[in-house]
Amino acid sequence: MVFRFFRMVLIGLFMTVGIAQSYAADEVVVYSARKEHLIQPVFAAYTAETGIKVTYLTGKAAALLQRIKAEGNASPADVFLTVDAGNLWHAAESGVLQPVRSKVLEKNIPAHLRDDKGRWFGLSVRARTIVYHPDRVKAGTLSTYEALADPVWKDRLVLRTSKKVYNQSLVAMMIAAHGEKETETIVKGWVGNLAAPPFGNDTKTMEAIASGVGDVGIVNTYYFGRLKRKQPDLKLALFWPNQETGGVHVNVSGGGVTRHAPHPEAALQLLEWLATEKAQRLFADLNMEYPANPDVAPAAEVAAWGSFQKDTRPLIDAGRYQADAVRLMDRAGYK
Ligand code: FE
Repeated sequence: MVFRFFRMVLIGLFMTVGIAQSYAADEVVVYSARKEHLIQPVFAAYTAETGIKVTYLTGKAAALLQRIKAEGNASPADVFLTVDAGNLWHAAESGVLQPVRSKVLEKNIPAHLRDDKGRWFGLSVRARTIVYHPDRVKAGTLSTYEALADPVWKDRLVLRTSKKVYNQSLVAMMIAAHGEKETETIVKGWVGNLAAPPFGNDTKTMEAIASGVGDVGIVNTYYFGRLKRKQPDLKLALFWPNQETGGVHVNVSGGGVTRHAPHPEAALQLLEWLATEKAQRLFADLNMEYPANPDVAPAAEVAAWGSFQKDTRPLIDAGRYQADAVRLMDRAGYK
């Protein structure tokens, strides 16, 4: 009798395990700081192709990170998605991501766009470039980010706030390239050239150029694309700087497998799928970004902005020098 009871319990246990395993393969949970309208169609395509359900939660990167940490090993999150290598680096350093090895990801995503320990992988590329008013600026007078510190741009430069991680990453990559001293001189030069206090976002920065507050600025190209869709007649043009010296500053949106992922295989499978051609196109095109996979062409609308040499130095440096960049911008008076 006792034996039969234990046999029932054992059978019950195996059944539970069996159910849990099949459940694991059918679902993956994503916490995403990439906005819902940019991920929902991608996940819908994934579910249509694989039958695997993607449950997601969106929010600000810092809040989602806090949540994953607070949930600890009870966290339902399998994948963390966010924008900017600085944020991805921070997530990795704070221990919420686990290292993974994947031939697909290592083949499809260039080394400079991912963590060297496999904790995060870039999935789309955003270019942070120079934007200008074509009536007031001749493209031939532009050259590099650094040259925007030249007095010729006095009262003509507009920038987004230094509080935004995008500018922290840009300055961090400049520290990696030039060292702190030279970078500080450049950033002080920018601050001295400002036509107005820094703006809250890239769109406002561009609107300030269009309306004549300033002549030149630095923005992510997808904001340029969005604004031009809304106002095609707006007089703004993109310039690709640093073509002889390092290339255009690029960053990524990307993700990694969480340390306590309940479905780590499903998490990796989703990331690998996101790096494949069809998914890359969808993921990038929804936000007018560039695919991270170099074998995949950007959308025609994005390609029309022109081709350029991009900075291929490791984006890990955007995280590594982030704290230095924040202090440097503070010292330079960049608000
Ligand atoms: Fe953005």
